[in-house]
Amino acid sequence: MAIQFYNTLTRQKEIFEPIEPGKVGLYTCGPTVYNFAHIGNLRTFTFEDLLRRHLEYRGYAVRHVKNITDVEDKIIRTCRETGESLKALTTRFFDAFLQDIDAIGLLRATEYPRATDHINDIVALIQTLLEKGYAYESDGSVYFRLGAFKDYGKLSHHDLDALKTGASGRVDSDEYATEDARDFALWKAWDEEDGPVFWETAIGKGRPGWHIECSAMSTKSLGPTFDIHSGGIDLMFPHHENEIAQSEAATGKPFVRYWLHCEHLIVEGRKMSKSLNNFFTLRDLLDRGYDPTALRYVLISTHYRQRLNFSFDAIEAAKETLHRVRDFRLRLRAVTGEGSDLIEETAQCEAQFAAALDDDLNIAEAMAAVFDFIRDTNKLIDQNGVSLQGAANAETMLDRLDTVVGVFGMPAEEAPEDVQALALERQAARRAKDFKRADAIRDELAASGWIIEDTPDGPRLKRV
Ligand code: AMP
Ligand code: ZN
Repeated sequence: MAIQFYNTLTRQKEIFEPIEPGKVGLYTCGPTVYNFAHIGNLRTFTFEDLLRRHLEYRGYAVRHVKNITDVEDKIIRTCRETGESLKALTTRFFDAFLQDIDAIGLLRATEYPRATDHINDIVALIQTLLEKGYAYESDGSVYFRLGAFKDYGKLSHHDLDALKTGASGRVDSDEYATEDARDFALWKAWDEEDGPVFWETAIGKGRPGWHIECSAMSTKSLGPTFDIHSGGIDLMFPHHENEIAQSEAATGKPFVRYWLHCEHLIVEGRKMSKSLNNFFTLRDLLDRGYDPTALRYVLISTHYRQRLNFSFDAIEAAKETLHRVRDFRLRLRAVTGEGSDLIEETAQCEAQFAAALDDDLNIAEAMAAVFDFIRDTNKLIDQNGVSLQGAANAETMLDRLDTVVGVFGMPAEEAPEDVQALALERQAARRAKDFKRADAIRDELAASGWIIEDTPDGPRLKRV
């Protein structure tokens, strides 16, 4: 069966056909790096990870580009308030972003282009738009001339005339400077508030607007027309609409073939926000002792086009679910003797799982296939009906499916208390430079089946 995605552009599910057979160009709007990502951001990023992993499972070579927004109003304001340089602030939070995505098992993108590394590309694109009459200069800034682009609104299905008031939050136009209230800034002339943040360029002294970076960097990495573009639903308008306008006006070619948008994560029925005090970063949750894989399960298991209502109960429930998988794997490892090799059962489970994800990432059905398999196989194990080969086949299948969902791995086994106490004693011995004692403890631990790995986060116990 072919892969199908719901394309926001056409408002229907469509069979996915990449431009080049076997290859996919995927652009996903990335974080604005001035604070820690919240779990709403991570919901969208986790959906994009599932999308990419499924395409890879189906044999596509995916080139995944995720931009890093490192110059923008909120970043500049933060720098002004704290005195930290733009470079230092954004580097710090880009590193934090990488730590977060590693913690919940997102694959690293092929490329993370940063806006500030692409000022020349951005300026060149704006110059093209100026030459073609799609942009104009006013008071040192450059604006996109929205009325000149006939297709505006085709993604969000907005009525252009209804936008005339410029009421939408992110149509950042100044009615005195622009010809039309709907026009948006491509380049912002320097003003005092920007302080040291500016570039001297052929189109003047200033900095790029937010929308233009995605047009410039996606084209640079993936070409003028590429396969898939995604982001959270809030980006559909105006950000993605503006990207289409900028890119198609400049190149005269269709920009993106499939647009996928992820619905929001909400908390107890309300949008997550700082003022409601229902705002969580991944770090908040890890500090409270929640397991990142359980959170990943929560983020992944609601279909991406449905709102996800986040709750702590949901993480607890996910933990239970993952325990079931772990217990199942432990049972498989204890299987002895004769019985089924589970050839048909594993083939059927995998086929259902993959077909469900082919259908616009139907995660609920994909997971149901796995849990049906676990239930049926558990019954067989109760009757001693699974062979060693069958157990191995089941584990291999789970590992293969886990390359897509990233939640079925065996969690690290926790060391018993006496072992943990010994490990602490070894640390104390090492601090006291009593290396003889430290080594003796290490040998003692090894004899009881545990090794100590020294990691940047401190020593960690692992089963031999
Ligand atoms: P930002 O760092 O604000 O540029 O956002 C990064 C990504 O997170 C974008 O794709 C947003 O659409 C997405 N996003 C922001 N808030 C939420 C939310 N509550 N639920 C899901 N995605 C979100
Ligand atoms: Zn973008």
